[in-house]
Amino acid sequence: MTTISVKSLRNFANNKFLVFSCILFLIIALSAITAYTISTRQINHSFIEQQLSVASETIRLRLATTVNSDIALLLKMADTPVIQQYFMNPSDHALKSQANAELAIYKEHFNNKILYWVNDVDKTFYSTGNAPYIVNPDDPENYWYNLTLYETEKYIFNINYNPDLEQIYLWVNVPVFVTVQTGKKPIGLLGTGINLTDFSNFIASSHREFDKNITTYMFNKYNEITSAVDYELVRNKVHLDEHLGETGKKLTRVAHELSGGESRSFIYDKKIYMVNSIPAMKWYLAVSYPVPSLLSLNHAMNTVFFSMLFLILFLFIIINIFIARSENAIEKQNLRLLEANRKAEFASRAKSDFLAKMSHEIRTPMNAITGMAELLLRGELSCEARSYARDIKQAGNNLVSIINDILDLSKIEAGKMEIIPVKYMLSSLINDTINIIRMRLMEKPIRFYTNIDGNIPDSLTGDEVRMRQILLNLLSNAVKYTEKGYIGLTITVDKQDDKQVLLRIDVADTGKGIKPEHQANLFDEFVRVDVKKNQGIEGTGLGLAITSRLCAAMGGKLSMKSEYGKGSLFTVIVPQGIETKEPFAVVEEPERKKILVYEGRVVYARSICWTLENLTVPHVVVTNQDDFASALYHDEWFYVFSGYGLYEKIKPLMEKSDSVFCGGKKPHLALMVEWGTEAYIPNVRFVSIPIQSLSIANTLNGKADNHNYYEVSGSSGVIRQTFPNARLLVVDDIATNLKVAEGLLSPYNAKVDTCLSGVEAIELVKRNKYDLIFMDHMMPEMDGIEATAAIRKLENRNEVPGKNGKQIPIVALTANAVVGMPEMFIENGFNDFLSKPIDVSKLDEILDRWITEKERIINNKEQITENKDQILAIPGVDVQKGVALLRGSLKAYKNILILFCKDVAERLSQLQIMPEADTLPAFIIQVHSLKSVSASIGAQEVSFHAAGLEAAGKAADMAFIREHLPDFTVQLAELEKNIRAVLSE
Ligand code: ADP
Repeated sequence: MTTISVKSLRNFANNKFLVFSCILFLIIALSAITAYTISTRQINHSFIEQQLSVASETIRLRLATTVNSDIALLLKMADTPVIQQYFMNPSDHALKSQANAELAIYKEHFNNKILYWVNDVDKTFYSTGNAPYIVNPDDPENYWYNLTLYETEKYIFNINYNPDLEQIYLWVNVPVFVTVQTGKKPIGLLGTGINLTDFSNFIASSHREFDKNITTYMFNKYNEITSAVDYELVRNKVHLDEHLGETGKKLTRVAHELSGGESRSFIYDKKIYMVNSIPAMKWYLAVSYPVPSLLSLNHAMNTVFFSMLFLILFLFIIINIFIARSENAIEKQNLRLLEANRKAEFASRAKSDFLAKMSHEIRTPMNAITGMAELLLRGELSCEARSYARDIKQAGNNLVSIINDILDLSKIEAGKMEIIPVKYMLSSLINDTINIIRMRLMEKPIRFYTNIDGNIPDSLTGDEVRMRQILLNLLSNAVKYTEKGYIGLTITVDKQDDKQVLLRIDVADTGKGIKPEHQANLFDEFVRVDVKKNQGIEGTGLGLAITSRLCAAMGGKLSMKSEYGKGSLFTVIVPQGIETKEPFAVVEEPERKKILVYEGRVVYARSICWTLENLTVPHVVVTNQDDFASALYHDEWFYVFSGYGLYEKIKPLMEKSDSVFCGGKKPHLALMVEWGTEAYIPNVRFVSIPIQSLSIANTLNGKADNHNYYEVSGSSGVIRQTFPNARLLVVDDIATNLKVAEGLLSPYNAKVDTCLSGVEAIELVKRNKYDLIFMDHMMPEMDGIEATAAIRKLENRNEVPGKNGKQIPIVALTANAVVGMPEMFIENGFNDFLSKPIDVSKLDEILDRWITEKERIINNKEQITENKDQILAIPGVDVQKGVALLRGSLKAYKNILILFCKDVAERLSQLQIMPEADTLPAFIIQVHSLKSVSASIGAQEVSFHAAGLEAAGKAADMAFIREHLPDFTVQLAELEKNIRAVLSE
């Protein structure tokens, strides 16, 4: 057996179960032993009592039988006439011999016992085997003589001790009477002697057979001991109560309470006593036996009991050792698991640290790469170089988004992903998402519809950023993995109460689908499935992992259904708080606004129906010209919704006079367009595809649509305003980064100072008045946090020029984008946070946020005078609209015009060539971009033409393109020339 070590014993003791089981075992064992002891004692007692009773009964009966038969014989002899006559004439020889003959017959009956007789005439004592002698009745020794002759009618007993033989005898004496006139006259006696020593020996030996410890006494009614192993006691007629003291008293008391032949037992002073009466002799027999010790007597029972006990103990020990060993094994296993867990935690922390570091290290050069590419794109470039620069920027952005994904995942894994609920507008979240997805869909023949339940409260609370991420991830995947057909975004309410709405977001596509065997682990990180078929599609396999974890973190869940080759449906169910209950989209008096929808594209027609039903607007959908024509004049319509491509066909029908229409009034017309080309046709409303419930509601309620879908310029970002009076400082230890920042800030016309260290920055802050400082975080010697602290100190001591106690806004510029960073910077005296690589739109937001109103008022004033002084007039361009789109900044507008010219110059050369079937997609992109870009500067006519060409391209209507493209290029070249002319003024 295994040696149980001290440790395992301690474990054993520590284990509550084992301790409990030991205690239980002890209790059970003790109870068993106690019960066994009590019952064995009981059994032993009864057994002894039984034995004692058998033994004493035997003695009693034997003695009684012997005595009774002897008495009977003696009485018979006393009645014999020969004997009586001989007793009266002892000297008569004839009589003597007759009597002896008679006596000889009886002698045989007495076996070996002594038979004796005495006649009262000569008082000669005759006995068998002994010489006769004369008895002197007056001798006190011979008290029995007179006692027999004169005091009894039947018999008397006396006991004496024969010192020669060392024997005790019980003498039975019977008187011999003759009947005379006066009555009975004693003439002598007959007697026999019973050797009581033999009896005592018999009793003793019979008991000794049973046990040596047995003690026997007989005593008479005077309590004199009449039989005992110690003959002296008998001879001296010692009283039993004198001899045994208290025990003797109890024995004699019990004995005298007995009625004939009865027996009684009791336990006294550790002995079992049994007392019997022997009525024939009026004697008592007392036997005793010490109370047996616990384990004596029932050896077989003891053996069985204790073997069982030992067996149970043995089993108990074995089981406990087994448990202790398995406990030990579990303990070891737990320790191993703890250790593994500790290592895993360490590894996870190391991984997070590594990722943070890696992200920092990669982001810093990425800032240079994407920033420089951005600057290149802003300058004059050949077509080829521009395309390379765009590719560099695109690839850089992709890399940054992969790093972001990895960081997100590591944050989620480390449990550091915080869900930060804010108040947000669902409509703007949806709009932003739709715009991004629309852009991505440009190159694919895919229809995109949205069915958004208008009853959802618009103002919600939740983590808007993460909601956007979820929507974008799912929709981007749909775009990536779908080649034709449609993509749909449906948002409905699963459940709603006063405080919370459970949103159900379905993203459906008719893409490649996912094989059933790949679906199970699709939400695991780095899982990309069907890699062969998806070759060429960029991805890391992180999007769905992040999405599903984000859903879970927000208390929701992501699920999916897919049919391979047919498409997929991803569903998110997520709770969001309700800020105000106002619904997302409501049509006022919907029953009065019946709509005729003419749309040949089934996907869009279905989506419009869904939305109109959701908004409870009565409607009829037609899909061909004839149905449209007949429906148009046969009912009263509030609005006609038609696809933009059908405008030419319905135009003649709609241009008829009011009287032709039911109700005497022409319905309003809304054209559904895929890109923003609104305001070209008088009295026609443009509604962007995908049609949204809000757009429909706004249209039917006669409100303007708030959402404009502009794609601004070939380079990214919108420069919304300039800050010529502002002075900015950029601090970074890497010169390239300074160059990038300078370049990105240059369109804002602000004065930008740069320096390479915190120490320099402090010097500059002491000397100049800055409106905003961009401060790098990690710098040698003095990092950004220390430099900021020093600047804040200077400000407190009023050692900073022109600030009058006000703080200079300091924006942390860092490549360290791990969670908690923004909070850390704010705590350390920074005002804002901009991550590297710099996202130009974020940069714009920051400038907008921190450059003071005062600066802007001055700018706007200037702007207004500037606008007044130099109102630009460009033929074919609505300058005012263009400027308004840039928040009234003429300077920014001019910048956009410069970029527009560059862009057009580049595209014109490509548009000179008539597209073929294989170059058609590229052509569509070209005209599509021109459509949007020209709309954004207010060149509506060009935009409209571009839209026409785009539609023709999408319909592969080569004849239309061939007819209109040359005119369009001429028009475009004209526009570029006109703009350049104005700009050069
Ligand atoms: P990524 O798209 O970067 O590879 P994701 O985690 O977003 O990573 O997606 C994991 C995989 O799931 C993808 O590689 C693609 O095989 C599959 N998948 C995701 N969305 C779709 C979809 N809409 N249709 C078909 N397959 C999809």
